[in-house]
Order: sequence, then C-alpha cells, then structure tokens
Amino acid sequence: MNDPFNAILRALPSMDSLLAKGWISLFEDELGRSAVKSIASEAMDELRKEIIAGQRMEVEENAIEEEIRRRLEVRVKMKLKPLVNATGVVVHTNLGRSPLAQEAIETVASIARSYSNLEYDLSGGSRGHRGDHVEWLLERITGAESALVVNNNAGAVLLALSALAKGREVIVSRGELVEIGGSFRIPEILELSGAKLVEVGTTNRTYPKDYQSAITDQTALILKVHPSNYRIVGFTSSVPRSTLTDLARQSGLYLVEDLGSGVLEDLTESGLPGEPTVSECIKDGVDLVTFSGDKLLGGPQAGCIVGRRDLLDRMRSYPLLRALRTDKMTLAALEATLSLHMRGDWSSIPALAMVTASAEDLLSRAEALAEKLKKELPSWRVSVKKVYDVVGGGAFPEHPLEGYAVAVASPHMSEEELCDFLRSFKPPIICNVSGKSLLFHVRTLLLGDEDHIERALVEAWGGER
Ligand SMILES: *Cc1c(COP(=O)(O)O)cnc(C)c1O
Repeated sequence: MNDPFNAILRALPSMDSLLAKGWISLFEDELGRSAVKSIASEAMDELRKEIIAGQRMEVEENAIEEEIRRRLEVRVKMKLKPLVNATGVVVHTNLGRSPLAQEAIETVASIARSYSNLEYDLSGGSRGHRGDHVEWLLERITGAESALVVNNNAGAVLLALSALAKGREVIVSRGELVEIGGSFRIPEILELSGAKLVEVGTTNRTYPKDYQSAITDQTALILKVHPSNYRIVGFTSSVPRSTLTDLARQSGLYLVEDLGSGVLEDLTESGLPGEPTVSECIKDGVDLVTFSGDKLLGGPQAGCIVGRRDLLDRMRSYPLLRALRTDKMTLAALEATLSLHMRGDWSSIPALAMVTASAEDLLSRAEALAEKLKKELPSWRVSVKKVYDVVGGGAFPEHPLEGYAVAVASPHMSEEELCDFLRSFKPPIICNVSGKSLLFHVRTLLLGDEDHIERALVEAWGGER
C-alpha cells in the first residue's frame, strides 16, 4: 500500500473513540451496543475502501460522525414503532391497517405470555383443534356452515383455488383481474395455485353468456373478485351475484368470491351503502367467501374463509394449509374482535368506530385541537377544514367520508420541512399536505394522538425560534 493512503487511514478515529462519544449512547438505548458498533464499523469499512480506491484524499472527523449518525438514524426509523395516522385513511395498508380493540390487545398479551389450549381440548383432555372457537364465531356471525382461518386473504384465495381447482379451469371476468396493494394479482395467484385461468368478457363488460360459453368439462369453479379500489365507470356491465350462483349451480360448479375487505355488518345507516356483507353473499348462495381480518373486520392480519362444509373440509385436509397456518396471537386477537362483532359492540372496534364516526363529533374534535394549537402557536395559521376521509382497504372506494382536519401552516418552516420534522418525531406523525398547509385529519386519531401533535408542533416552533 502506498504512503499517502496509509497516512489517511492511520488518521481515522478508532472505533473505541467513536463509541465513547456521548451522542452514540442515545442510539445504544434504542438499538443496543452491538448493533451500533456494527453500523459504525460498516460505515468505517466503506470509508477505508473509498480511501484505498483513491476516491477520498482527506476525511474530517466531523464528516465521519455525521455519516455514522445518519446511518443510525435510518436504522432507528426502520424499527417497527407506533405512529400517529393523521391521514384520514382508516384502513391504511402502509400504516398497519386496523388498530386492534383494547380487548383484542389484552387477549393477545395474555395468550402470548402463557401456555394456552391452542390445540388442546379441555373437555376431553385430549388433542384439540386450532381455531375452533374463532371458526364457530365466524359461522355464527356470517350464517355460513363452516369457516377456516389462515394467514391472510391472499393465502385464503390461494388455498381455495389450489385445493378445489388445481389442474383445472377457473373462470374470471376480465373486469375483475385486478392487482391489489401492489403485489396481489389475481392471474398470478391463480397460476401459483396450479389452476388455469379462463378470462371471460371484456374489461368493462361481462355477460352471463360469456361465463356460460366458457364452461367446459375442465371447469372447476367460477371466481368472483371484489375490484377493490379499481372502478370502471360509464359503459359497464357485470353479472349479478345471484345470476352467477344460479349459473354455477346449474353447471355443477362452485362459486368462490374474494370479497376483500369483508364487511360483516351492513353500514348503510352510517351512510355507507353498496358493499355486500359476508352474510349476504352466503345467503345469495356463494359457496365460499374469503376476506381479510385486518380491513373492516378491524382485527389482526388474517384470511377468513366461510361457506360450504364439504369444501372447507377439503381445504382443511389440504397440505398447503399447514404453510398458511395462523399463529396463536393472531387467533387470540381475531377471537376477541369477533366476540365484539357478535355482541354488536362495534364502537369498541377502532376501525369501525372511525368509519362510522359522525361529522358533528369530528368537527368538535377538530375545533378542540385547533383551539389548543392556536393558543400554543400564536404566530401560526391554524384553522379547521372540511375534508374527505377514506375507508381504505378497497372498501367503499366511491364513498369518501365527510370529515374534518386541522390545517396548520408555520410562519418559518416550509410544509416539507415540517413533514420531515413530524416523521422524525417520537412518535412519528403522518399527515396530509394541501397547498402550504399540513392537514391533520381527526377521524384516524387515537386516544392521546392530539397531545402528540400538539407537543410535536410546539417543539417544531421552539426549534425555529
Ligand atoms: C385486500 C384484498 C386482498 C388481499 O388481502 P390480504 O389480507 O392483504 O392478503 C385480496 N383481495 C381483495 C379483493 C382485497 O381487497
């Protein structure tokens, strides 16, 4: 190695001297000493390589520290942590979908901490069945003969197609060949299941005769898919569920419906018409309905399958089920959430409470928050704005919810600077931006979130003074 490189390398601070810095210990609290050390030495290794490659002729100690700090901050931000959702999107997939009900949280904690009767029958003292009670609750709530729970709805669809249609044909309307959430694509799930996709109709129009003429002796089932956020408007036509059930029955096929969000209760009275409930689908004669546990059901990530007992029994003995098996904490949370549905205690389920919150309640919450902020931040522009919130999770895409937000503009910080600051706050706060203002939608705020917002903005103000 030649000398100038050597001299620069020798001048680099030692790892021990870096780890002895005061600011580092703050990161040790969050990440642990060995993680901090590994991140710091990674940065130093890269620096050495750059020096040896001749890309750096001098290195200031300050710059080294700044680079290490940047990497540690990135790592801390990646840790799973609670945050404030002020976006007004209730089932926000990027923000963890549904927050759990208090009862569900407590049930998870008690089951997680201890042994449980997960697969043990306390009546007979013998081996029992995982998910028995959850399945019973799902049957009662939806009116289905039988139920099964897997890891998520994508898994539910995959299991149904694989167990019932592998090596055979599945008919799907072209208008329903959707991609959901960036990675769940109906044609890909079908291919993965080993079933053969038979597309019928066109993107905007599908008629009963399209299904009829696609049926062969190779057809196993008809799949109906909730189009989620995707809508074709104007010159459209799709086949009603009841026509599909008739068609399936006459042809000796099964009708499977991926309902996506899976609304358990009719929300028409709360101003949300138009989504079929799971029990309506069952009543209409759909053989199997699949839906998510963490969308409007308001529970943990899970995939629920309800419908005909003979079909569910085939899925129960299908080997893929083992790979999609739900964890005890999921079952605990789902069981507690379904018990709340069963009791009709929807206001205890945060996602449902948020979706059905009245405009008057939201207005008074927004006014209260705005009043506090005006007092704390006299030089800022603070006002209450009427906004539209979103159910999310693919349900009710045509029904924006009337809501309220507090609009805030700082006299000194740009909207981007303020958003950056809020994302780095503890807890991070995620909000919307409209023009020069930040919008804090109150619908999706949980207990205590208003205080976090107030604290964060006061701190941002203090920082700029
Ligand atoms: C959300 C959704 C899925 C995926 O469900 P996960 O529980 O996220 O796996 C599948 N189909 C439809 C129609 C959906 O809306």
